[in-house]
This record gives sequence, C-alpha cells and structure tokens, in this order.
Amino acid sequence: MTVRDRTKLDAESIVDFIADIFDRRGADSYLGEAVTMSEHMLQSAYLAEQVGADDSLVAAALLHDIGHYTSEFPPDAQDQGIDNRHDVAGAAVLAPYFPKRVTDCVRYHVPAKRYLCATDPGYFARLSEASVLTLKLQGGPMSPSEIEDFHKLANLDDILRVRIWDDAAKVAGRATPSFAHYAPLLQRMVDSHRTG
Ligand code: FE
Repeated sequence: MTVRDRTKLDAESIVDFIADIFDRRGADSYLGEAVTMSEHMLQSAYLAEQVGADDSLVAAALLHDIGHYTSEFPPDAQDQGIDNRHDVAGAAVLAPYFPKRVTDCVRYHVPAKRYLCATDPGYFARLSEASVLTLKLQGGPMSPSEIEDFHKLANLDDILRVRIWDDAAKVAGRATPSFAHYAPLLQRMVDSHRTG
C-alpha cells in the first residue's frame, strides 16, 4: 500500500495515512507554543494514557488537531471540511473511521475552551499566552445561551477531558511514546467502528 496515494483512503490505510502525516508534518511549529505539532498531539495522548483513559479518549487526544492537516486528505474527504475551522474539519475527515465519541471530542475542542473560560475561573489563568490570543479569534468565552446549548452534548465530560489534556500538552522536551505506540490502538478503533 502506498500512503502517498491520496486518492484512496479506507479502513486499511487510514492509520498509515495519519502516521505519514505525523512523519512528514509533525515537525511543523505549533504557532506560538514551545512544542511542535506532533509533540503536542503525542503529549495529549500520553496524558490521557497515563490516567488510564480508554482507547477512544486516547485516540481523540492524539488526533484532536488533525484538522490542521486536512489539505493532506483526498479531495473528497477535504470537501467534508471545506470552509470549516480545524476543529470541525478534523472531525469531518475522521468521521468515516472513528466513532462519534472520538469525533465529538475533536469537533468540540475549541468550543470546550470557550466553555471552560466562561465557567471555570481558574481555567483562563492556566491557558498559554498563544491560547489566550486565539481565544479572541475563536469568539471569546461562551455566552450563557451558548453554555446552555453546550450542556446538551452527550459527550460533554469526554470533550472537556480532552480539552484539559490539550492545554497541558505544551511542555518543551517532555518525553512521550512515538506515534507507532498508538497505531495499534487506532487500528482497533477503526476495525471495531467498521464492523460495529
Ligand atoms: Fe491542540
């Protein structure tokens, strides 16, 4: 199988495809942060793994920022995320292969930050400088009616847990397992989503 064949993506090739993105693009800088994109995503996954989170949450933490790379996906997959921000676009390209619990955590990781800024006084103080800057562009803290709507999400607790790992996954030089460590977990999820 060639992972550079961008016209064909299926349950057999998606994990290698994502591995290839980590490989080629993982060294990209994570704007304004002290870690690269792959360091950030691997640190997120490792934080989830260290507290014994289940496979879905480890996968969600690992893939939450994949929407920064939707241009790597085949054109038909990209159409799903066209004109969308990286959170929505990322959920869209993962949706054929991963359960909704995973894609919800990806899809709502930016609103989760806006939610936590509005509801947890200590949260804003813990945000990185770059994250405070992007908060403005993302719409600032949620309004009361947005909070009310957010409370209706079935996977709210999971979404918030992934967000907290996301925020903590910006430590320069922290050692983590490599992507290869998580590939079997991802493939198990893809396989059970396909047959389930
Ligand atoms: Fe992130």
